[in-house]
Amino acid sequence: MHLLYPFAKRFIAGENAQAALQSIRKIYENGFLSSMDILGENVNSRQQAEAAKDLYLDLINKVGAFHNPMDYSVKLTQMGLDIDKNYCKNNLAAVLTAAAPNTVRFDMEGSDHTQSTLEMCLELHAEHKHLGQAVQAYLFRTQDDVDQLVEKQISVRLCKGAYKENSSIAYQSMDKIRQNFLHLAFQLLKNGNQPAIATHDEYLLSEILSFVAREKISAESFYFEMLYGVRRDLQKTLLKKGFRVRVYTPFGTAWLPYTIRRLLEKKENIIFVVTQLFRETFGLQKIK
Ligand SMILES: Cc1cc2nc3c(=O)[nH]c(=O)nc-3n(C[C@H](O)[C@H](O)[C@H](O)COP(=O)(O)OP(=O)(O)OC[C@H]3O[C@@H](n4cnc5c(N)ncnc54)[C@H](O)[C@@H]3O)c2cc1C
Repeated sequence: MHLLYPFAKRFIAGENAQAALQSIRKIYENGFLSSMDILGENVNSRQQAEAAKDLYLDLINKVGAFHNPMDYSVKLTQMGLDIDKNYCKNNLAAVLTAAAPNTVRFDMEGSDHTQSTLEMCLELHAEHKHLGQAVQAYLFRTQDDVDQLVEKQISVRLCKGAYKENSSIAYQSMDKIRQNFLHLAFQLLKNGNQPAIATHDEYLLSEILSFVAREKISAESFYFEMLYGVRRDLQKTLLKKGFRVRVYTPFGTAWLPYTIRRLLEKKENIIFVVTQLFRETFGLQKIK
């Protein structure tokens, strides 16, 4: 596992809250906003779910003195969704209560959890208006989900989707995913509640910038959101153009599944890891 850590370090802001908050300070000093995410998913014991909830409560407490708007991203399977739905709901409610008025947004996980995540979001949103939801443009169902979220004015983060999904439920070609992404993004930009456009795809970004200019969409009515360590050049460019850019900042010890998803998104990432492995195995370090 340690083999992937040099790679993981690029995508995570450390293994604990203290390290992450140092990175967060720099992010804000440079004019960006952040959504903090404590890594973890698919837990199968109450002890693990409880520990994850406590980590969030501790983080929220530490961020309290930071005096800046801060979003939090949470995965439902980290809070015990696969153990018991009501138990998970209580854990999430505790996080939502502590984080208010800051936005807490549910990440969207693999399709086994899509329906239960959306149901949970709708249920908890009735009591906690600062709850938002991520959706994935590659799923056929997302148009209906977005319609429902827009109707309830739940703040949406739109991304392409990071899991391997079957062709019976998800678009497989990049063209189709992009087409659906743009369609949903335009709807959210016109009618959504402070949506976040979460992509590093330059084609999508330039189409969205044209739409925003054409339709005179205010830069105060939405966010761009990008991952920590990915396309910092684009993050800066959008900021310079006067847009709000939020950096999704994960940290924690459970970095492996997140790192593997990032690894698989770009061929060069795999080459980087293989090169590291080669160097380590054959003692090819540059400094002797
Ligand atoms: C803020 C945010 C939140 C997200 N939340 C979720 C979520 O809740 N659920 C979910 O399923 N997915 C989530 N994702 C991941 C998303 O679904 C995609 O898998 C990911 O963003 C890559 O897609 P892309 O739109 O950036 O386009 P791509 O076509 O994958 O990438 C466009 C360009 O961005 C750069 N890039 C993208 N990824 C990497 C990488 N890993 N390493 C190096 N360069 C890279 C490359 O230059 C690439 O050419 C989130 C993404 C973002 C930005």
